[in-house]
Amino acid sequence: MKKTIRDVDVAGLRVIVRCDFNVPQNENGEITDDSRITSSLPTIKYLIEKGAKVILMSHLGRPKGEANQKFTLAPIADRLSLLLGQKVIFKNDPKVVSEDVRKATENLKSGQVMLLENVRFRKEETDNGKDFSKELADLAHIFVNDAFGTAHRAHSSTVGVATYIPAVSGFLMEKEVEFLGNTIDHPKRPFLAIMGGAKVSDKIPVIENLLDKVDSLIIGGGMAYTFFKAQGYEIGKSIVEEEMTDMALALLRKAEAKGVSLLLPVDIRAAKEFNNDSPSVIYSYDSIPSDWMGLDIGEKTIKLFKREIEKAKTIVWNGPMGVFEMPNFALGTKAIALALAKSQGTTIIGGGDSAAAVQQFSLSDQMTHISTGGGASLEFLEGKVLPGVATLQDQEIK
Ligand code: AMP
Repeated sequence: MKKTIRDVDVAGLRVIVRCDFNVPQNENGEITDDSRITSSLPTIKYLIEKGAKVILMSHLGRPKGEANQKFTLAPIADRLSLLLGQKVIFKNDPKVVSEDVRKATENLKSGQVMLLENVRFRKEETDNGKDFSKELADLAHIFVNDAFGTAHRAHSSTVGVATYIPAVSGFLMEKEVEFLGNTIDHPKRPFLAIMGGAKVSDKIPVIENLLDKVDSLIIGGGMAYTFFKAQGYEIGKSIVEEEMTDMALALLRKAEAKGVSLLLPVDIRAAKEFNNDSPSVIYSYDSIPSDWMGLDIGEKTIKLFKREIEKAKTIVWNGPMGVFEMPNFALGTKAIALALAKSQGTTIIGGGDSAAAVQQFSLSDQMTHISTGGGASLEFLEGKVLPGVATLQDQEIK
């Protein structure tokens, strides 16, 4: 277990917090979705209440090591001031840290909040440069990492800074580690994983790792066709990774050897074109005509997968069941999302497109946990130790 902000006395101390304020913006730089900012509020408010002097930092977009004003954190400071109901001091220094910034942090009073400029204005940030890491660390007494979305990257603001000052997790990070780590390692059984999405190659390490832990595994979405092809079935024009068929067979064998029940679709909603308006027909998994492509799971499959979901006490879901961006091929993904919403078990959505799907169907608040990290949550599900988590101090064992 990692230490959290609850385990340290922050009163009167300067605390530097790595947040994930990498919000989507429109062409005028206006924030189109502030959920990343709102989800960092519990940590910030807690630190204010406890009398810390709060210094916030984040990246935004890819300014590639240059002070490009298109990626300034100024709009974040404004939104944060509104949400917190207090002024957030914004230091728009192109160097992020400077003598002026240092002085300003020293003048901070307990309960005040300051935001630094985009850490990726400095080239050293993504190289985990020692000097920049130390400059950041020198601003504060304690480092709090609350940016799970970048925890799989060893950068100055996520890893390097922790070399110089004590590092603990914020509430968001704690929640991610709790659900993606502890719940998956100690699940209530039956434990079901549902994998989907376009490519099997991206998810092989996740499937491999989960096969050591789950009781059953559902494979849907575009990746299912590589498994069908591997078994010699006609898949028409469906998405496939020919070079992954041997790996797919190896995964099927591993599931069998481990006693994991592996469920693939039994029917497919297919169309002739990759187009929402292309008329669709449901075919059995082993008889997709040569000029058709599978774009969603069929009705029998929905029933089969729902029954498995009803039995499970812990469910992890990563990747849509079909091309959910097209309403006519979103039915399978929606049915699975609804089944998870109804489940009495622990439901964990592993970030990325399945999180987007759950949000699209307005079911987010009915899931136990939706990971905020796309790449980071996949790496966690692969069983990797994330550098941004590894650097946090461990709890003392009592
Ligand atoms: P991933 O990033 O690997 O999780 O893949 C997500 C993408 O997979 C989404 O954009 C879906 O539209 C796509 N997808 C899901 N099922 C299919 C399918 N049967 N054919 C093509 N693309 C699919």
